[in-house]
Amino acid sequence: METRKKIGHWVGGKATPGTSDRFGPVYNPATGEQSAAVALASADEVSDVVATAAAAAKEWSASSLSARAAALFRLRELVDRSTGELAALVTAEHGKVLSDAAGEVARGLENIEFACGIPHLLKGAHSTEVSSGVDVHTVHQSLGVVAGITPFNFPVMVPMWMLANAIACGNSFILKPSEKDPSPSLLLAELVHAAGFPDGVFNVVQGDREAVEALLAHSDVAAISFVGSTPIASHIYETGTKNGKRVQALGGAKNHMVVLPDADIGAAADAAISAGYGSAGERCMAISVVVAVGAVADPLVSAIADRIPAVIVGPGTDPASQMGPLVTAEHRDRVRSYVDGSEEEGANLVVDGRGEWPSGFFLGCSLLDHVRPGMRVYDDEVFGPVLSVVRVETYDEALALVNANPYGNGVAVFTRDGGVARRFGLDVTAGMVGVNVPIPVPVGFHSFGGWKSSLFGDSAMYGPEGIRFYTRPKVLTTRWPDPATSVVDLGFPQTR
Ligand code: NAD
Repeated sequence: METRKKIGHWVGGKATPGTSDRFGPVYNPATGEQSAAVALASADEVSDVVATAAAAAKEWSASSLSARAAALFRLRELVDRSTGELAALVTAEHGKVLSDAAGEVARGLENIEFACGIPHLLKGAHSTEVSSGVDVHTVHQSLGVVAGITPFNFPVMVPMWMLANAIACGNSFILKPSEKDPSPSLLLAELVHAAGFPDGVFNVVQGDREAVEALLAHSDVAAISFVGSTPIASHIYETGTKNGKRVQALGGAKNHMVVLPDADIGAAADAAISAGYGSAGERCMAISVVVAVGAVADPLVSAIADRIPAVIVGPGTDPASQMGPLVTAEHRDRVRSYVDGSEEEGANLVVDGRGEWPSGFFLGCSLLDHVRPGMRVYDDEVFGPVLSVVRVETYDEALALVNANPYGNGVAVFTRDGGVARRFGLDVTAGMVGVNVPIPVPVGFHSFGGWKSSLFGDSAMYGPEGIRFYTRPKVLTTRWPDPATSVVDLGFPQTR
């Protein structure tokens, strides 16, 4: 008899097991064992969720801004108090260490805090007497049902990037989490429910491609927010927009860290280790390539290599661990294959992280020097604990390298020269730039988004861009009747 834990959906204010009879495996990456089976929704089930969300959106869109803000404040407290529980679920299915998982909850909370200001954020503009006796004002109305499709690597934070603003703006939200780590989404749903949001305003539908295609095809889904890999982001954007939806689709990344000759080598090496190997490199803002400019290369490579043995790799539940396993065996093997092939391609394998672990999807930290464009490990998004060093002679070469890369998510420059840093910030073709900051994820009251193949659409996520994405503006032009001045005039309306 199948006794494995089953993970289902959350629809209309309650948990439901689903009816599709299709399931996907969920693993504990630290042991390599399957811990649960997640329901994979059918197109019909998705259709039912959309109907539930659409019914809820009718009333919710008319709710007062003060009622919404009050519920968001309650949600903020509930999520904050549940940080430990949420982090434990993340670690159990994603594998990242508990402190890192708690960090993603904290960063996600910023989005709820931002959304608490919804009465202020939805203020429209008003112009009095634009013409004689005529006033104009704008309103920002909700879209109806909006959906979010999220990746495995931030199962709490990325859903919060979307859901807080989406529901604050008066929409109903359907979350389709990654099937690799689905459990945190259900705890989030319980917290949204406990905060007093009406049933059906927040729903979770577990699933794979079939559920995503059903959301993309459904005429009652007004907008799609997507975060994941570039090929899927491109597909989501094309299909969603073709079907008349508003779409923001954030894709993959290849983040460079340029280290200029005047940089502090120790600080740059610390940053490269933290941003390259934190969360086992499974962050869309992870540093994947260190660009060493001029004479900085030899001492920098040595400083990074010297620090690697001190990185403690182990189960995410062990407080001593600094880096956990990768999410699945398949992903671990894929990441490993880049190290396997690196020397043949001409790279120098300075630190080899391929070790043997008795169980779990572990891989140690690898460092590759003399990497160049054209090598697989440079051209692909590796998404694992593999740091490449590309050596260049000048600042201009470094800038040209970064700007030639098809991705443009995050980038960092390490220097003591403010003028060069400023120039780099203006000239680089990436959406988020760090100056001596290796992971420049914007705070919740700014917006997050890359350039080039890292974002499809014209809207970044969360912050002011999120409010704009989840609302539709309307302009009302008003004249109060004054029979004394009323005339028939067939000319095009002009101000007077
Ligand atoms: P993924 O693209 O495989 O999956 C993302 C979502 O799409 C999941 O919900 C998944 O179920 C769904 N999906 C997968 N294949 C699909 C298909 N063929 N058709 C329709 N839907 C499909 O990404 P992932 O492996 O879960 O996450 C890692 C990727 O996400 C990396 O490329 C990383 O850079 C990217 N990412 C980007 C950002 C960003 O802000 N730009 C943030 C986090 C992660």
